[in-house]
Amino acid sequence: MQAVSTVYPAGVEQWAAERAGDLDPVPFRAVADRQTGIYDCVSDCSRAEVSGAVKATCGNCAKRRAWDAEGESPESKSGEETALPCREPCSFLVAAAREFHRHEGDASDDESSGEASTDDRPTESDPSVPRGDLTDPANVYRVRYRRARDGQTERPEP
Ligand code: SF4
Repeated sequence: MQAVSTVYPAGVEQWAAERAGDLDPVPFRAVADRQTGIYDCVSDCSRAEVSGAVKATCGNCAKRRAWDAEGESPESKSGEETALPCREPCSFLVAAAREFHRHEGDASDDESSGEASTDDRPTESDPSVPRGDLTDPANVYRVRYRRARDGQTERPEP
């Protein structure tokens, strides 16, 4: 139990709250609207961008998304009885949404990017790029985002 709490702070408490019907999930838009400073632009994310960000980041997370993501229903995973619920968008999801918004845009807004056309970007992630380096177009999450945005099927990542 202590190990779980160390890796997932408040995870056990939120799991218990969900079972008691008291989880009170926080939707993406509420978290986005309270961002300030460099994260202020997260509130400008379109529904398509939110959807892509959720697929790119939450899709491979051990936690189960319990919050509303702009029309994306809360997630149901096998083993739902034991999977830890995610009560609200985490700081990594927010940071990723910012980078996707600034550098990738959504399917109808490629001009928002200051980079080369998405056609010129790598279709495979580069394992030498740190997973946390969201500024690199070959970052695994950036590649997942483009695939999600383009409606491509998820492929195994290195
Ligand atoms: S918001 Fe973060 S912790 Fe929650 S499911 Fe997504 S990636 Fe996991």
